[in-house]
Amino acid sequence: MNADAKHSIKADIAHHVHPQSNLRQHAEKGPTMITHGKGVFIYDSEGREIIDGFSGLGCVSLGYHNERLADAAMGQMNTLPFAPTFYNRSHPRVAELGERLIGLAPGGMNRVMFQCSGSEANDTAIKLLWYTNTANGNPNRRKIIGRVRGYHGNTVATVSLSGQPHMHRKFGLPLPEFKHTELPNYYRFHIDGESEIEFSNRMAAHFEDLVLSEGPETVAAFFAEPAISGGGALMPPEGYWDAMQAVLRKYDIKFVADEVVCGFGRTGNLWGSQTWGLKPDMVSCAKALSAAFFPISALMFKDEMYADMMKNSDEVGVFGHGYTYAGHPVGAAVALEALDIYDEIDLVGHVRKVSETFLARCRALSDHPLVAEVRGVGLFCGLELMKDATKREPFDPSWKVGELVQNFAHDRGLYLRAIGDRMSFMPPLIIKEYEIEIAADRFKAALDDAWAVVRGRV
Ligand code: PMP
Repeated sequence: MNADAKHSIKADIAHHVHPQSNLRQHAEKGPTMITHGKGVFIYDSEGREIIDGFSGLGCVSLGYHNERLADAAMGQMNTLPFAPTFYNRSHPRVAELGERLIGLAPGGMNRVMFQCSGSEANDTAIKLLWYTNTANGNPNRRKIIGRVRGYHGNTVATVSLSGQPHMHRKFGLPLPEFKHTELPNYYRFHIDGESEIEFSNRMAAHFEDLVLSEGPETVAAFFAEPAISGGGALMPPEGYWDAMQAVLRKYDIKFVADEVVCGFGRTGNLWGSQTWGLKPDMVSCAKALSAAFFPISALMFKDEMYADMMKNSDEVGVFGHGYTYAGHPVGAAVALEALDIYDEIDLVGHVRKVSETFLARCRALSDHPLVAEVRGVGLFCGLELMKDATKREPFDPSWKVGELVQNFAHDRGLYLRAIGDRMSFMPPLIIKEYEIEIAADRFKAALDDAWAVVRGRV
């Protein structure tokens, strides 16, 4: 490690407080310092080459080097580096991006608002639900339902909507309007003998009970990812979306599809909503919208909501919501270029093609003594680690088996994310078959390393 790298690590420990990190560990061990990247590989300050099996944070769709995206950013910075979208002002790139996104959106969307992050897109969705419900005679419809272990962001409202206890504890959250229905993890939580469809119906019945106990007339919306990423790459069980959407229709509850991770090809279709036949009223997207080269997000919705917004705006004189960097010209230029690239290289087609190798190699890991269940779609796969797969007996959480696998994988040159004892594997969407093979070999080796530690205790 050179002197510069040593200095940055020291500075990082001394001053930089890290989000979503173990602060004690950071103070004692410091960060893994990533210095550069190319393709699906990242490089750390110790010179290690690591395959990024988590696409940064599920966002680096086109890998770590792309001259076209860099040129698009530079070109825009040299032409118009900033323009507000407040006060009825606009600029050509953001108008083009809006048109382009609406052309791609899952059915029925015709309006779009821009922000800088997934959290802001979902926070905006919550505010628009509240705002429009005051215009359409339903001011008491304020409750928002998410799912246990779901994740939708980190603002006060979106983290309340998320079902992540460690993000609530000590913060005095969630806010009272936010409720959570069950996590549809079939493998972990089905009753012996229960089919996937029966399980899905039970999840929907639980959801309906929650709606009824809260009072349907007080529930504004249900937020969900088509497949859960934050709670650990969890694919919906058979029949889940049919059953859940029937409840939404029955009580006229709006459905917000969080496509922040699933959007732009992750599941083998442009949208996760297409993969599972969702009919959302609003759609949020971010991350791969700009291939993660610039922070930009979007929230899309229907004309009917826009009409309600118009009513309020007419009354108040202005629509009182928005962020300085909403529709940033550089973000818009980069996103437009990313969407062009996706088209030209047929990214979705590529995901479908390499997904066969990816899923086959992941499924082969189910023979490993640590792995109980493997389930994935596209380039998105979750692997459940269990002490006893047949009895569905989890490991003692204090053993931190997931973290052990994650750390061994890093040593072997593969970045994976452990969410408890569930491993999430979601490489950049441009990954090639031979890179998948290398990554899968490293994953298997990391499982072997972890098994060598755990075996004696089982
Ligand atoms: N929704 C989902 C499904 C996410 O995975 C994330 C981020 N991991 C967010 C929303 C929040 O996005 P951001 O971190 O850009 O605010």
